[in-house]
Order: sequence, then C-alpha cells, then structure tokens
Amino acid sequence: MIRPTPAVEGLPATTPFIGPEQLMRESGRRELVRLGANESAFGPSPKAIEAMTAELPRLSWYGDPESLDLRDALAAKHGCAPSQIVVGAGIDDLMGLAVRAFVAPGEPALMTRGTYPTFLYHVVGYGGIPVDAPYRSDGKPDLEELVAIARQDLPRIVYFANPDNPSGHFTGRDEMQRFYDALPHDSLLLLDEAYADFVDEAELLPPLFEDRLIRLRTFSKAYGMAGARIGYALSTESNIRTFGKIRLHYGINRNAQIGALAALEDDAFTEYVVSETARARAAYYELAVELGVPRIESRANFVCLGMENAQRATRIMNELLLRGVWVRKPGAPPLDSYIRVSAGTEPMRRAFAEALHAVIASPRMSLS
Ligand SMILES: *Cc1c(COP(=O)(O)O)cnc(C)c1O
Repeated sequence: MIRPTPAVEGLPATTPFIGPEQLMRESGRRELVRLGANESAFGPSPKAIEAMTAELPRLSWYGDPESLDLRDALAAKHGCAPSQIVVGAGIDDLMGLAVRAFVAPGEPALMTRGTYPTFLYHVVGYGGIPVDAPYRSDGKPDLEELVAIARQDLPRIVYFANPDNPSGHFTGRDEMQRFYDALPHDSLLLLDEAYADFVDEAELLPPLFEDRLIRLRTFSKAYGMAGARIGYALSTESNIRTFGKIRLHYGINRNAQIGALAALEDDAFTEYVVSETARARAAYYELAVELGVPRIESRANFVCLGMENAQRATRIMNELLLRGVWVRKPGAPPLDSYIRVSAGTEPMRRAFAEALHAVIASPRMSLS
C-alpha cells in the first residue's frame, strides 16, 4: 500500500489560494479584472522585460546558484554585505525555509489570526504549533497582545507583516522598534516586508542585522514580477548560512534573476508604480465615501472596503465575480466583513467601481 508519511498524512488538505484561473473555469469566463491577489497592475519594468527577453535563448542554463550579481546589487541597495542576503523563489519559499530551519515539530510559532496565510501553512506543514492573536476591533494587528503571548509561549518565530496584508495597516518605525525590543530575545521576528517598497525606507524598522531578525522582501509587488517568483531575505551571515544548508540551489528561475537585477536599476519605473498605487488607493477611498462604506487606511497596493458583515461581503465578492471582477475577502474577524481590492489601473478601477455600484444597488443585495 502506498501512503505518505504519517506526518504528511495527518496534514489538513489546505488550499491557501484559489487561483483566478480556476475561478474563470468555474464561471466560464475568459477574462477577469484581476484585483484579487495584489499583483501589480502596472507590469514589470520595460527594462526588466527587455533584459529577460534578450536572455531567453539561454534558458537552457541553470540560474546562478549563488545569485551573485543580484546579491551584489541588493547589498548596495540595503547597505549590507552580500553574505547577509539570500535569494529565494519569492517570500513564500523563504518563509518555508525559515520555518523549517527554526521551528522544530511541536514548537510554537506566533502570528496574527487571519494575516497573510503562507506562514501558517508552513508552520502546520512542518509540524509546528500555531499560536495566534486576533486583530484589534479596528482591524489593526495587536502588537501588545502579540508581545504578551510571545512572553508567555516563547514562540520560536513571531511572524509580522508590515505593511500588513490583508488590513493594509502600516506600523511606523518607533512602534516597530518598541515591538521588536519587547519580544523575548529567544524568539525570532520574521518580518514580512512584501509591501515595503510602497513606504519610505526611513519609516521602516532601521536596518538591523541581528540573529533574531529576518526581513523578507519580494519582486512580486512593486516590481510587478509575481509570476517570475523571486524574493530575498536580509539577516545575519549566520542565519543566511543556515538558509544555505536547506535552500534549493537551483530553485531560482534564471530569467527572474536577470529581470530582478534590471528592475532594481529602474528607479524611475518603481517610482511611477508607487505613485500610481497611491493614486489607486485615493480612488478607492473616494469610492468608499461615495458608497458610504468604511475603509481601512492602507500603505500597501490594496484597500479593504467594509461591507457590513461577513456574509454580505462574501455575497458581494461572488456577485462581483459574476460581473467579471475578481477581488478577495479576508477570512478572519473583524476584517471578514471587508472586501480587499488591489490597486488597479484607471480602467480597472472604473470596472470595479461600476460593478460594485451595480451589485450594491441590485435588489438581491438589499435583502441581505
Ligand atoms: C504577496 C505577499 C507575499 C508573497 O510574496 P512572494 O514573494 O510572491 O512569495 C508574501 N507576504 C505578503 C504579506 C504578501 O502580501
């Protein structure tokens, strides 16, 4: 009889993300207004596309297992040594390595309930014990509660996304510093900065290189390269060596390395994306006023709009899908009464606004 290991057999069959491709199949649509996964609506840098296109014929080669050129460029950007950086196939990949390296089966790992789900997915997958703190009633992560639980349970890793997903809330430098200082020194802070490019570097936790801090960055959001799968971690040389023991050395797409390097050099394009994203957030705030619904202040490339309760938010999300507009909805209270919409181009925002107006005005919705 063929069976997976008992540990794997015991895992729940989780699907952290249902892809828009599956939704299109189920709904018989050939196209969706993609505003559900916080992908960049503004694409990758034209320079990145050009560099990747030029290198395509060499796709028969493996990527550089050490990502030497890219790590040099990243070290210059962050004012650190290349030995303090490891490149992975996106933050999701690096998060798995962090859990595998630092959380033994049966050991606790702490997060906010309902935050970005991949960390929880890895903790469960590697046999760790997930511990969580709910969001505050205003939808912000509860730093005090996280610290209180951390002091009591001494988790191996405390996961925190800043700016947070799905709330979009940003915790400023001083508050982050106090949070980091207050955590037990035997707990590692895994700081997910997927949306760091949308805020000023000076607003973030200072560039500390200590064993109990690992920061995660990605080319998936502001750099618009989600499909290329590339991101990196910043930490001490000792932690980076630990990653080196378990990472897949040919796990990085060669084209992604080339595109990421070119994207890093195109500051003008990144600035354009960041300003267009701010414009999109402002447009969604205006839409919230027009509709008379609450919204959460966001510093990321998405905004949460309040739809009264979880059941109504789910119905509105499904009705939007029927009209060809794909958004997502946070799963855990209090954010589960919101829908989360990614920053779109002007035509995408218009399609979303029109569909949302129509859905809310439809007689079926007023019965809820
Ligand atoms: C999108 C997102 C990620 C995924 O990053 P990849 O580099 O594409 O794996 C990680 N964390 C957060 C908070 C995100 O929103």
